[in-house]
Amino acid sequence: MTNGAKKRRTPAIDGWFAPEPGGGVRLLGTRCAACGTPYFPRNDLACRNPRCDGPRDGSELAEHRLSDRGRIWSYADARYKPPPPFVADEPFRPFAVAAVELAAERMIVLGRVVPGVTVDDLAVGMEMALTEGVLYEDDDTEYTVWMWQPA
Ligand SMILES: [Zn+2]
Repeated sequence: MTNGAKKRRTPAIDGWFAPEPGGGVRLLGTRCAACGTPYFPRNDLACRNPRCDGPRDGSELAEHRLSDRGRIWSYADARYKPPPPFVADEPFRPFAVAAVELAAERMIVLGRVVPGVTVDDLAVGMEMALTEGVLYEDDDTEYTVWMWQPA
């Protein structure tokens, strides 16, 4: 890009997250209409809750936008380049990852922490918000993933 034109933005992986109308981003999972169990990544086969009274044929599962806030359950520093299929910057720049327990679903979702925030800035129990960030880019496209940022 030499002309200053804005790069196209597209998810690095399809169907795992989407922009929220009015701003922000949400993870896309499914939820059982019979028992309320949420799933992420999405489960379209059948509800796996052993106590569920639903039909268990997949018809009980509908798309569910997960909550975009939670608290840090654990976190770590990624100092080494993950193996493929992970696409890393060259040269590799260390980043933080956080396992965040979603407020509403009580589910833990792992994600990269936004650039500029290190493990020194994080703590168990800290409130985090979901956002979208650039995982890698080529000449005309930025490929994005969900990331966690301090709320
Ligand atoms: Zn169920």
